[in-house]
Amino acid sequence: MATWVFCEEQGGAPSASSLELLTKARSWGEPAVFYVGGGSDDAFATLGAHGAASVHQLDVGDALPAPLAAAAMAELVGPDDVVLFGMGSTERDVAGRLSAVLGAPVLSNAIDLDTSGDQVTVSNEILGGTTRVVTAATAGPALVVARPKAFPAEPGDGRTPEVTAVASPDVGHAGSAVVLESHVEESEGPDLEAAAIVIGGGRGMGGVDEKWEPVTKLAGLLGGAVGATRAVVDAGWVPYSLQVGQTGKTVKPDVYIACGVSGAMQHLVGMKDSGMIIAINKDPEAPIFSVADLGIVGDVHKVMPALIAALEAR
Ligand SMILES: Cc1cc2nc3c(=O)[nH]c(=O)nc-3n(C[C@H](O)[C@H](O)[C@H](O)COP(=O)(O)OP(=O)(O)OC[C@H]3O[C@@H](n4cnc5c(N)ncnc54)[C@H](O)[C@@H]3O)c2cc1C
Repeated sequence: MATWVFCEEQGGAPSASSLELLTKARSWGEPAVFYVGGGSDDAFATLGAHGAASVHQLDVGDALPAPLAAAAMAELVGPDDVVLFGMGSTERDVAGRLSAVLGAPVLSNAIDLDTSGDQVTVSNEILGGTTRVVTAATAGPALVVARPKAFPAEPGDGRTPEVTAVASPDVGHAGSAVVLESHVEESEGPDLEAAAIVIGGGRGMGGVDEKWEPVTKLAGLLGGAVGATRAVVDAGWVPYSLQVGQTGKTVKPDVYIACGVSGAMQHLVGMKDSGMIIAINKDPEAPIFSVADLGIVGDVHKVMPALIAALEAR
């Protein structure tokens, strides 16, 4: 059984998801990386440091990557192999196409996987994390799509992976789509997915401008990032890039401070694995308190200014 990790180059470097998956995959073998992008010695060294024994590199130029990557991977992946993907849009696109070409199952939303037995088994959570389901691939290569931050990325002993260029396959009209433009949203402060402290604001903040200001102010004082619930994003108070949850980002900071957040399942799945959760909500029955390590029952517009004043006085 060979293990493959799919990696899409982002900003000249390997994707964060590929480094997380390599860290997991090196615990049972010598993973190979299928790399989509221009590549560089630094990028390959980073993959090697995280456990890649070999790298198969496909440079797609400005073509839409998934049709070409899936066709090329179908030639490389064997029937007993396991292929790991993150949950980015290209990753899911390639996994789906590969599944169709190889007739192989996709085990999605993985938070853990086990390759020690006869079958590859994958754990995932349903019903907002209240129920854990274990599934197995009983035939063909196992295509596994893992949730972000399911496995921490940790560099190990440095190694230099063997790099092989993969020829771009002919996929006919499927390969004719090109990427015309891509836009990276500009943001201030620490990256939400990497921040050690996240201040998550919910509808209980009551609105924008001075109503929302305690969230950004607290984040600034603590060197943290601002997150938000979907209710807040849908209301247009903050951009979608700040949404935490099932259809937003998954965060795992050391400290998550939920302010005026009810704690709906769809929000909890994106933040419940944070190191310490502090919740401020005026409703003592709010579900957010069920995952909170520290709960403050009170009005955010009384509690947060007091907290901010105390921090400013330090
Ligand atoms: C398919 C699907 C996907 C979804 N994906 C996501 C997702 O990715 N992320 C996400 O967040 N949601 C998601 N949702 C929406 C989710 O179900 C909830 O509607 C949403 O999380 C609620 O946001 P909220 O907590 O800000 O608002 P509410 O549920 O309205 O909660 C507001 C809270 O603020 C408290 N409050 C009010 N005023 C104050 C005050 N002055 N002081 C203190 N507390 C106060 C209230 O007691 C209440 O608990 C999804 C829903 C669906 C159906």
